[in-house]
Amino acid sequence: MSEFAPGNALAFLADEIAAMQAQGVYRHPRVLEGPQGPRAVIDGREVVNLSSNNYLGLADDPRLRQAAMRAIEEYGAGTASVRTIAGTNRLHAELERRLAAFKRTEAALVFQSGFTANAGTVAAILGKEDVIISDELNHASIIDGCRLSRAQIKIFPHKDVAAMRRLLEESRDARRVLVITDGVFSMDGDIAPLPEIVAVAKEYGAITMVDDAHASGVLGSNGRGTVDHFGLHGQVDIQVGTLSKAIGVLGGYVAGSKLLIDYLIQRARPFLFSTSHPPAVTAACLAALDILESDEELIQRLWENARYFREGLADAGFDVKGSETPIIPVIVGEGEKAMRLSDRLFEEGVFAQGIAYPTVPKGKARVRTIVTAAHTRDDLDRALTAFRKVGRELGIV
Ligand SMILES: *Cc1c(COP(=O)(O)O)cnc(C)c1O
Repeated sequence: MSEFAPGNALAFLADEIAAMQAQGVYRHPRVLEGPQGPRAVIDGREVVNLSSNNYLGLADDPRLRQAAMRAIEEYGAGTASVRTIAGTNRLHAELERRLAAFKRTEAALVFQSGFTANAGTVAAILGKEDVIISDELNHASIIDGCRLSRAQIKIFPHKDVAAMRRLLEESRDARRVLVITDGVFSMDGDIAPLPEIVAVAKEYGAITMVDDAHASGVLGSNGRGTVDHFGLHGQVDIQVGTLSKAIGVLGGYVAGSKLLIDYLIQRARPFLFSTSHPPAVTAACLAALDILESDEELIQRLWENARYFREGLADAGFDVKGSETPIIPVIVGEGEKAMRLSDRLFEEGVFAQGIAYPTVPKGKARVRTIVTAAHTRDDLDRALTAFRKVGRELGIV
């Protein structure tokens, strides 16, 4: 056997990492030592957890656990095939029927993740001759899908519908045009002006697509999403939802016309070339849908908690302007300050992630909090006490 000199050709990665460390953006993922929840044991410390996307507390719901265990008993651990060969079981078909009914669309198609749903769909529908018009704060999976499609990408300033219209105007010669936006923006917790976007896109005959990763299970009746929230049923061509956030499990889906779904089954590459969800995942998602459809109180509690926590932070003097949803960013300005605030909060028993450039613009560094329906008043009060104490200590309030 020849001598193997590990890492020589990759030595440049050490310089890249050193640069990230110098900028203070090198990450060490924290480790959960039990279930995801409103309080969690993370890196050996019990904390109030304000960093998950577990909006409805379903990630560790006993009904989802039971459904997952029963599905394993009945169907086994994995599918060992992609959906289009031998990897579609009855649970997948049932979940897609249920999701289409939930979203009030003709059909739905489940992907392995929200990421692959976005990237796979955009890349399948658009090509070189086309133009994609995209909000500057759209999610990375949309950006990757746009790149994979090889369409021309035109970015408009965040939520600037007038700028979006100018881009549509100058794209009249394109074969096809897609206008794409997040429904709820993950770093700011604000909502896209979907009625205006849809109206303008329609004037130009453009395709419309909304990524509801943070709106699924959060916004609209029973958590049906942004389209439902604005009463736009039937007016958005492509809706993407995630099963990984409020639904508490894993996956993404596209909801729309039967024509759209029929096409994606033939052409969406992650759907065609990557193994389908294991039975436990699909069954747990079905159990979560049962809960969403029958229990409106859960979503009411989520919004009530979000209101309470946002007002508490504002009363304490923090800048939480812009948040319209349970995503509540606390803007502090400098990246180092945001990281310091996050670290000190953790020592005080509160886990809220610091986020800096390049994830958010320079000077807009923040600690992002996400409130869930599962947090008690006591959890939120404990978090507010820690924020007040550390905020004063660091001169933020
Ligand atoms: C999280 C997220 C996704 C990806 O969803 P996953 O199911 O985690 O892959 C897509 N879009 C947005 C806006 C997101 O926040």
